[in-house]
This record gives sequence, C-alpha cells and structure tokens, in this order.
Amino acid sequence: MKKIAILGSTGSIGTQTLEIVRNNPDLQVVALAAGSNVDRMEAQIREFHPLAACMWTEEAAANLRIRVSDMNVRILSGMEGLLEIAAFPESQVLVTAIVGMIGIKPTIAAIEAGKDIALANKETLVTAGHIIMPLAEKHKVAILPVDSEHSAIFQALNGEAAGGQSIEKILLTASGGPFRGRTRQQLKHIRPKDALKHPNWSMGRKVTIDSSTLVNKGLEVMEAKWLFGVELEQIQVVVHPQSIVHSAVQFMDGAIIAQLGVPDMKLPIQYALFYPDRRPMGGKRVDLFELGQLTFEKPDTDTFQGLVLAYQAARMGGSMPTVYNAANEMAVKFFLDGAITFLEITEIIGEAMAQHRTIREPSVEQILETEKLTYEYILKKIW
Ligand code: NDP
Repeated sequence: MKKIAILGSTGSIGTQTLEIVRNNPDLQVVALAAGSNVDRMEAQIREFHPLAACMWTEEAAANLRIRVSDMNVRILSGMEGLLEIAAFPESQVLVTAIVGMIGIKPTIAAIEAGKDIALANKETLVTAGHIIMPLAEKHKVAILPVDSEHSAIFQALNGEAAGGQSIEKILLTASGGPFRGRTRQQLKHIRPKDALKHPNWSMGRKVTIDSSTLVNKGLEVMEAKWLFGVELEQIQVVVHPQSIVHSAVQFMDGAIIAQLGVPDMKLPIQYALFYPDRRPMGGKRVDLFELGQLTFEKPDTDTFQGLVLAYQAARMGGSMPTVYNAANEMAVKFFLDGAITFLEITEIIGEAMAQHRTIREPSVEQILETEKLTYEYILKKIW
C-alpha cells in the first residue's frame, strides 16, 4: 500500500490524482488540503477517508468540521495545517498540486520529513529551486515531475547510465496556445473567455491563461533547469501544436528520445506515483495514421514576450524569477477580472522586473518578501 497526501486536492491536478487513486486500490490517501472548496473537500473525505484534511481559511475549516463531524478525520487550517499535511507522518509521497508560491514552505516541510514529492506546483522550483533541489538531495528524497513536459523528459532519461550528464539539449514542447499564429495587433482585444479555451489540454484557469501567453512555457523552462540540472542554453522551446510529443531529450551522441501520448495529465501523475514502475491505464491511444503528421515550429517571441522575459528572469536568477512569477500571478487575476487587457499581462511582468533589484540566493523569507513587494508595486501602478 502506497500512502499519499495531496495539497490542492480540489483542483484540476488534485482531482485527477484522486481518479488514479480510484483506479489503483494499492494507493491510499491519508491527508488532503485545499483552499476554499468545502463542498468538494467534503465529498473527497467521504469517498477517500483521509485521516486529516486542511482548508486555507479557519472559516472554511469550521464549516467542514461540522459537515464531517460524523467521520473520523481531523480538520486543520492555514499554513500550520498545510505544513502538517505536507509532513504527515503516515504518508510516503506528497503530491504538490496547489497553485502559487504558497507551495514553497509545505514542500520544504515534506522534504525535511523525508517524503518523496510528486511535483506539479512549478512555482516552487521556479522561485526556490536553489533551496529545494539541494535539500531534496540532502534528505535523499525524489522530486518526481508531474508537469507533462517534465515527466516526458524524466521518462526519456530513464535508463541513461550517465543520467543528466549525457544531455546535450532538452526539447521542451509547447502547443503554442489558442493564439498561435496571431500578431500582437490581433491580441489587443482578447477576452478571458477566449484565452480560457486551450486547444489540447484541460487545466486550471490560471495555468490555462499562462499557456495562452506562453508564460507557462517560460515557467517550465525554469522548472526544467532546476529539475534536470542543465544550463538555460540547453533548453530549446519547440512549438508543437498537436501536443503529442510531450518533450524530448537530445543526447550527446545526437540521439533524440521523446515521449509521445495523448494529452492527458493522468499519465504523468500516475507515472510519478508509481515510478519506476508503469501501471496499466485505459483511455484513448495515439493513432499515428489518424494523426498523419506531427509539426514543429519556432516560438513567435515578437508576439509572446512572456517567453523572452522568462529567459531574462532565469538568466538574472536569484529573486528575479520570483518577480516574474508574482507579477504574472497578479496580472492574470486582473485580466480574469477584466481590469487589464491581454497584452498588459506581459507588460506588467516586464515593468515589475525592471524596477526590481535582484537578490542573489534569496532565502524563503526573502522570496516571500519579494512576492509581497511585487504585488504592492503592481497594485500601486494599476490604481
Ligand atoms: P487549480 O486552480 O485547478 O487548483 C488549485 C488547487 O490549489 C485547488 O485545490 C485549490 O483549492 C488549492 N489552493 C489554492 N490556494 C490554496 C491555499 N491557500 N491553501 C490550500 N490550497 C489552496 O490548479 P491546477 O490543478 O491547474 O494547478 C496546480 C499546480 O499544478 C499549478 O502549479 C500548475 O501550474 C501546475 N500544473 C497544472 C497542470 C494542469 O493540467 N492543470 C499541468 C501542469 C502543472 P480550492 O479550489 O479549494 O480553493
């Protein structure tokens, strides 16, 4: 029996993780955490019987406590609760499916408690990769990628005697999002409902908007740099509109190994949970005859400035990726609320980066302070 805890169980990755639990009786959920969706959390508690569950606000936790008072489950709240769920004594693996930098501290707590991490929360590595990766090595815990591209790279590296040493280049694929092929002029009047229509993947709202701006790919470049210990120059973003090749590794002898499959997050989640084993999984299969062809193109960095800014932030390093990420989080919220235009998302990121003085090797407190200062800067600018 493999025992798991999930941060962000009510979200897109969280609910798909629970689908995998449903299909694999030797997986047991021991602890869950979410933000505010009490209805969904109650249903999850009734179905999966965790020993503890956490809601972000005490109000939501108090509501949940009453609703599940007939069950044997402890209900926690806030950061203290998140930390407890992350380091839950009975669990072996923590799935970090929470959204945002709030995932940093719980991920650190889980690593220090010796839990393997099935990592979906890319913000943790983007902003604190210099803390997370050495800590994982020190505590001998595995960081197992859940992001489909990083899972593909991880799978391509499987069985390589020299591991990451033999990588010449990572080919990080991107669908190009719903606005591939458009000019900046054509993106001026994009509304949230247009940007929320991803051509291939069904994901949470924030990551869907990030895919439409290519900021998601920028964050993934930084995530790949930390996960696989490569230089930025070794990561090449390749637009592949069919989203069948989930990414590839080019090795030092020129060989390229790619992982292909239908766009479905359940495969990378399941792979992370059972690594190094593969488990059966139903569902659609790739039919190469039906597809006919797979195409690849260069990203349009004139239109999608988010990718250019990501490379700049990654090159600067230190606290700059935090500014990139925090500015994007806030800009996306404003865009979804109709307060700013689509193109202003990346303009705001650029301006926030321009006013920031980089801190080298920031501590967790400095990262969180940088996040706060970035939010304050943007709020002041917009109102
Ligand atoms: P969703 O928005 O669908 O879900 C986010 C989850 O985090 C929800 O369960 C939410 O709870 C919870 N949450 C939010 N704030 C808090 C908080 N303060 N405390 C506790 N829980 C909180 O996001 P996704 O599942 O799409 O994404 C999760 C992460 O995975 C992100 O980092 C994303 O970049 C990454 N990712 C997602 C992919 C996808 O296909 N969706 C693909 C690859 C990576 P509630 O709803 O109850 O408020």
